[in-house]
Amino acid sequence: MAARIRKSDTIEVLSGRDRGKRGTVERVIPRERRVVVEGINIRKRHTRARRPGAPQGIIEFPAPLHISNVAVVCEPCDRPVRVGFRFLADGSKVRFCRRCDEVIAPVEARPRGAAQSDDAEAEA
Ligand SMILES: [Zn+2]
Repeated sequence: MAARIRKSDTIEVLSGRDRGKRGTVERVIPRERRVVVEGINIRKRHTRARRPGAPQGIIEFPAPLHISNVAVVCEPCDRPVRVGFRFLADGSKVRFCRRCDEVIAPVEARPRGAAQSDDAEAEA
């Protein structure tokens, strides 16, 4: 299944407290249709060390956001855009910007069949 949003994409938040902020996708949770974005939707957890040396105090961490609240930022457009899919002449499937028609390349090309642990199928 195709992923509209993938790890390492730059996204912009469309709604909520962090609306307008941009960040890099750290993790995709396809089952919940959520993404974790660096520096976005920061929560604080008050934690005591469960064993010596374990993290303690007030821990800040990015909480998952629903993919409907974020959109991929198209570089040429420099704004959040909707994403389509198309096939290239060699049969590979790519994402493209529905606004300017440019292909949105994956940040790191992955060989087919390679481990796609957590960002394989977050289809919007
Ligand atoms: Zn564009």
